[in-house]
Amino acid sequence: GSPKPWGAYVEVFFNCFSFYLLGLSAAKLLTESGLNVVLLEANDRVGGRTFTVRNKQVKYVDLGGAYVGPTQNRLLRLSKELGIETYKVNEVEHLIHHVKGKSYPFKGPFPPMWNPLAYLDYNNLWRTMDEMGKEIPNEAPWKAPHAEEWDKMTMQDFIDKICWTNAAKSFATLFVNVDVTSEPHEVSALWFLWYVKQCGGTTRIFSTTNGGQVLSAITFCKQIL
Ligand SMILES: Cc1cc2nc3c(=O)[nH]c(=O)nc-3n(C[C@H](O)[C@H](O)[C@H](O)COP(=O)(O)OP(=O)(O)OC[C@H]3O[C@@H](n4cnc5c(N)ncnc54)[C@H](O)[C@@H]3O)c2cc1C
Repeated sequence: GSPKPWGAYVEVFFNCFSFYLLGLSAAKLLTESGLNVVLLEANDRVGGRTFTVRNKQVKYVDLGGAYVGPTQNRLLRLSKELGIETYKVNEVEHLIHHVKGKSYPFKGPFPPMWNPLAYLDYNNLWRTMDEMGKEIPNEAPWKAPHAEEWDKMTMQDFIDKICWTNAAKSFATLFVNVDVTSEPHEVSALWFLWYVKQCGGTTRIFSTTNGGQVLSAITFCKQIL
């Protein structure tokens, strides 16, 4: 169509660069509204934090974002529109919790705890995180009554404060690693608790059944590109 005024370019430029899925979605919406869009990518590959590796051994494996769950409505809507093929994560077989070179098969969202003290510690950890999450407003986490205090605290400080047993401490660390691909000392407790709350709480973010890991896209970024 006819070129749009420079102002439109400027706005689009600032909105779209620095994001991959987000940038592409924004670019798609803006293009559908009749604007010209320029997408800039700093990396030598597109895909951002979605990254599918293909090889003979595994055929394909997603090293970045791979799973989609029921709370991700916008992403699910977009996937459907683009015809992204998904499949249900296999829940028939056992999951494996691999610790210090040993594998422990289990079923359900969390590996079982046999030590009663560790079990209580786990329960307290999940309950505390969910209770704190309830205090954080979705749209304005900085308005939480303890926002400043929790934002000054890292998740490492939080784990050290809440967990008593090494089992709960190491699983809490894994929980942060898996959910936000960061170390607990790198993230603010306020931000992390808000993030988990947004995903429906500690159990849902980690669950397969009706949770954040229920569907896996087949080679996510490869299908979008
Ligand atoms: C290991 C891992 C597993 C994950 N698993 C899941 C999952 O199962 N389910 C889920 O929903 N989410 C998951 N995520 C999170 C998900 O991948 C991200 O939330 C999502 O990809 C973010 O998309 P985005 O477009 O905001 O940013 P990104 O994907 O980070 O895209 C940013 C893009 O901007 C480019 N860029 C940066 N700076 C500039 C610049 N100055 N100029 C031009 N380009 C620039 C980058 O190179 C990159 O391509 C996972 C993330 C990781 C790392």
